[in-house]
Amino acid sequence: MKKYKSFLKITIVLLVILVTSACGNKNSENSSNSNKVVKADKKVYNWKMTTTWPPNFPVLGEVANKYAEWVEELSDGQIKIKVYGGGELVPALEAFDAVSNGTIEIGSGASYYWAGKTPAAQFFAAVPFGMNCQQLTSWLEVGGGYELWKKTYAKYNIVPFLGGNSGVQMGGWFNKEINSVADLKGLKMRLPGIGGKVLEKAGGAAVLVAGGEIYTSLERGVIDATEWIGPYHDYKMGFHKVAKYYYTPGWHEPGTQFEFFVNKQKHDALPPHLQAVLDAASKKAQVWVLAEFDKQNGIYLDKLVKEEGVEVREFSKEMLDVLRGYTNEAIEEMIGNDALSKEVYESYSKYQNRVSKWSELTEKAYYNKILNN
Ligand code: CA
Repeated sequence: MKKYKSFLKITIVLLVILVTSACGNKNSENSSNSNKVVKADKKVYNWKMTTTWPPNFPVLGEVANKYAEWVEELSDGQIKIKVYGGGELVPALEAFDAVSNGTIEIGSGASYYWAGKTPAAQFFAAVPFGMNCQQLTSWLEVGGGYELWKKTYAKYNIVPFLGGNSGVQMGGWFNKEINSVADLKGLKMRLPGIGGKVLEKAGGAAVLVAGGEIYTSLERGVIDATEWIGPYHDYKMGFHKVAKYYYTPGWHEPGTQFEFFVNKQKHDALPPHLQAVLDAASKKAQVWVLAEFDKQNGIYLDKLVKEEGVEVREFSKEMLDVLRGYTNEAIEEMIGNDALSKEVYESYSKYQNRVSKWSELTEKAYYNKILNN
């Protein structure tokens, strides 16, 4: 019995050694194989990014630089992106064409810049009286919005990715009080996109002014008012020195979505794990941009009010209700002539209606009843 036991022990020990060494061999074979695979697959992709922002533009230019860093880190050095500001490689608003034709691999911007190519594009950036950041991110991420965005860009040979969101913007800088729609009559305001069409329905004039010329246009009375982004960027533009009233909320941009856009052939040529890296870094950008906007806008709102004596005013509910009606008219006109816009807006508005009921019950109630007290 004793002999049998020790025989059994020896046999088990031998078996364990055999199995362990076999596994060890197998593992080392595997790891040398996978090492080979990794080495063979360690192709490095050197890309260029062109942005629609001035180089290192606060938040939006910064996130382009960060995206390049994140992608390089997550891809273990396999994708290296060199970032160029607007105008350094191609003019800012030619970024889409340059990525579309493959001259440049990736771009950074906002889809409403491409509304002239395809009107449906603007629904993925900002819709007056539309969804805020939280709701829009939900539509894009799990509500079918992203699939429609891909479809919209597919004919331009481009794959879109989330690139951050500004949150609700400010309503703009005015040289007179805006108490009702009547005060918008004859008002010359820098207000791009659908918001500009709404202003015109209210009797105002939407004036196209490039970013670098807004301050002097406002100072010289070429325009009476302007919108830009929020306290952080607006402070840096110095608008508080040439306009008295700062109005909220930015009904025309309730959560402007930014984007990275990649040439489809360059994207599809990447192995799946590197395609996943582009996606993961874009999600990181989505979180970072809103976080940074919230942080900086809080700091600069304080500066504007406490140090610069800016008067922050709220648009009246009555005026906003009228503008909402004009917005619906403007959108109906827009989608009436374009099947894709209609398809995108149907999905967008259906999602907004449903999610807003939930937001009203929770987020809005929290803001109104708890956060402000
Ligand atoms: Ca804006």
